[in-house]
Amino acid sequence: MPAFDVQQFRQQFAFFQQQPDWVYLDNAATMHKPQAVIDAVTQFYQRHNSNVHRGAHQLSQQATMLFEQARTSVAAYVNAAHSDEIIFTSGATAALNQIAFGLMHTVLKPGDRILLTQLEHHANIVPWQLHCQRHGVIIDVVPLTPQHTVDLVAYQKLLALKPKVVSFSHISNVLGHIQPVAQMVAQAKAAGAITMIDGAQGAVYQQPDVQQLDCDFYVFSGHKLYGPTGIGVLYGKTQWLEQLTPVFAGGEMIDTVSFVNTTFNKLPFRLEAGTPNIAGAIGLSAAISWLQKYNTEQIQQHKSLLLKEFYSGLQAIKAIDILSMPVHNAGIVALNVAGEHPADVAELLNQQQVAVRSGQHCAMPLFSYLAQQGAVRCSFAAYNTLDDVNRCLLALEQAVEILT
Ligand code: PLP
Repeated sequence: MPAFDVQQFRQQFAFFQQQPDWVYLDNAATMHKPQAVIDAVTQFYQRHNSNVHRGAHQLSQQATMLFEQARTSVAAYVNAAHSDEIIFTSGATAALNQIAFGLMHTVLKPGDRILLTQLEHHANIVPWQLHCQRHGVIIDVVPLTPQHTVDLVAYQKLLALKPKVVSFSHISNVLGHIQPVAQMVAQAKAAGAITMIDGAQGAVYQQPDVQQLDCDFYVFSGHKLYGPTGIGVLYGKTQWLEQLTPVFAGGEMIDTVSFVNTTFNKLPFRLEAGTPNIAGAIGLSAAISWLQKYNTEQIQQHKSLLLKEFYSGLQAIKAIDILSMPVHNAGIVALNVAGEHPADVAELLNQQQVAVRSGQHCAMPLFSYLAQQGAVRCSFAAYNTLDDVNRCLLALEQAVEILT
């Protein structure tokens, strides 16, 4: 296979042609969309627009076919045993809420425990918390090592408390650290827990193999995988999906309805109430097909090269505190300029047309643990170039000069 050609890859994003002056390093928040995705969404609206699973006419049948093909392509991407194990949601947040709500009403009982880690996104904390408080379920939290990775010794000890559910992220959205998810799932399963992986940052870095991981749930958002916003995926093993109480009820998810009794549809429809995001699912499927034309390892190597250059440049700038490790890092770097507010640094970068995010990145418990008020986050995607790295370093250097 020929070497990864970043310029060829980048050319497929109209954004960079329309906005050539911007250095976009906010990919952990959302990614740009290649033309293949924009075309798939546009073509759906231009040629096939109809509702799914309900029309008698051909257009609806075509829309249904495209929507169900999208489900099959997502199932293949994560290597699900069956496409019925793929539930379309509006994003990772919605998927996590469905799992937390669904398990809380069936599987979890007062006094049960749930194990999370210190570096979770709020979307993998608050949905559990909301129900735990009401149902008397206890949350335990795995602390971090001095390198800010999940402390696996403490993890093993907390598993001895026999949590019913263990839920953790594949890749930290703040630090970029890749968790040893296969090992963590195996240990959790040995302790008898249901396992949930938050793949919001993971699904784009690495094609998840849910059968090999043997996790019970894996969730992600389309917009962090070069796809549209408003579409996400809840993968679950049939055994567990069947036990989830639906968060949403209404059309499509039912079999029969009367004022006396309602019976529910089979999977996956039981967990997809109402009109789904049809164009979003088709766009996500287009993103997956498009991304699969590239070699994942080559993309990872390209991002490692960007990270290496970025770290070596950062070391040459005075007063920069780096919170992320350079190893086992998916391409996300959290940093601070000593003594300065991250929002001020990000604003100075913004003035240089370098887009980064600042703040606590929906991970307040992590920042309490780190005893930091927040951080500037530079997150790289495959379309970023060495020129982007250098422009960001230059902008940081200027920010440090202005602020210190
Ligand atoms: N989990 C992690 C690790 C994330 O990074 C994010 C988004 O940043 C989410 C969950 C929530 O994703 P969304 O806002 O797309 O639902």
